[in-house]
Amino acid sequence: MYSSMCSRVLLPLGDLLARQRVMRYLDYYQRSQYWPRERLLEEMDRSLRETVAIAYQEVPFYRDLYNRHRVSPSDVRGVSDLPKLPVVSKVMLREAFPDGCTRRTPHVWDDYSTSGSTGRPFIVRVDDDTMSRARALMLLRTMFAGWRPGVPTLQTGMATERGTLKWLKDRLMRVTYVSAFDLSDSVLDRYLELIETRGLRFVTGYAQSVYLLAKRARDIGFNRQLDGVVSWGSNMFRHYRREIEEAFGCRVYDSYGVGEGMQVSAQCGVDDETYHQFCLHVVAEYCREGEPVKAGELGEILLTRLDPGAMPLIRYTIGDVGRGSAQRACPCGRTLPLMSSIDGRTSDIVVTPRGNRLIVEFFFGIFQYANMIDNFQVIQEKPDSIHVKIVVLPEFEASHWQIVRDQILERGDPDLSITMEIVEEIPLEPSRKRRFVRSSVGF
Ligand SMILES: [Zn+2]
Repeated sequence: MYSSMCSRVLLPLGDLLARQRVMRYLDYYQRSQYWPRERLLEEMDRSLRETVAIAYQEVPFYRDLYNRHRVSPSDVRGVSDLPKLPVVSKVMLREAFPDGCTRRTPHVWDDYSTSGSTGRPFIVRVDDDTMSRARALMLLRTMFAGWRPGVPTLQTGMATERGTLKWLKDRLMRVTYVSAFDLSDSVLDRYLELIETRGLRFVTGYAQSVYLLAKRARDIGFNRQLDGVVSWGSNMFRHYRREIEEAFGCRVYDSYGVGEGMQVSAQCGVDDETYHQFCLHVVAEYCREGEPVKAGELGEILLTRLDPGAMPLIRYTIGDVGRGSAQRACPCGRTLPLMSSIDGRTSDIVVTPRGNRLIVEFFFGIFQYANMIDNFQVIQEKPDSIHVKIVVLPEFEASHWQIVRDQILERGDPDLSITMEIVEEIPLEPSRKRRFVRSSVGF
């Protein structure tokens, strides 16, 4: 009853107030997830042609790039022609930002700073129409777990300020929003108590934060079954999944989205390795040096957002690696193409002297505002200290580090001892993955 009121009245009203179109897109994505493959492909091809043509006509960055590579928008008739186009990196876009790589749209826009997977802050301009599409898919991915708007939910997040409109939306949607900055035992106990007292039925949030919550639940003998857990943000490791499913007696539905305003894929729950790719919003390719790898093979993930928006992203290398799937159909009946894994966001957890646990997103949340720090890696070898390696830009000053250090102490644990070292570069792992946190201290 309340759920249908949320879907029919409150959410559309929210769209009206926020001047967004989330519910319109949700309706479109809900219907299209069962379309025959041919129809999906037709729609993808059409949107891609339009996106490439607009990018070429209106965005100097793409026009110059395609001219240099001697490709024309008319060479791209559909998604199978994507490999004809050059790969676009954050470094390239950063140099062209904002005038060279953005365009005007009739919608309001915002600049989003994302640390993405390279660690260095990167700014993407996203307009409200693109954001509405991504938000619709965030709702849909949670609906994959059986959730409906208005069903009481605990959500962990990194926002310190939620804003009036979001606060109101949380209340109406019965979302209890809690911080993933502090995940010490006493805080986790409070979150578990909220689940109990408010009768929350779903938990959504960063994989690591939900894992720590589940682990704590088992440690203290918390015994309450949930309807589902929806995760995002970093790898849903197998042992995380097992722990969560046992602690809360429900399935884990992992999803993959990126800070650049794209919701890439989500699990329908049929098994642990199946993700449906939201192919009408963004096309994922798995490549090595720009060339597609075979289905099921590990490849660098390239994303192409199928609406040009304020800043087109075409064959954009996000910095993650993953695998497509050779499997054609899913027993759930959805026809969206399948992904079998996202392997790129390796992660670890720092344990502090006071018992707080700092997940990778904790450090992202702090470093994304440190514009003079190009890259970072946190290494923990002893329980009471961390060593932070940073790569800095020429304008870097000692005070910039001081701010970061103070934030880690203030939000993480004041008893933590922190050493810092400026390095020339932080090498990738042998697997070509980047590790931001490497802790050998067990928790
Ligand atoms: Zn499925």
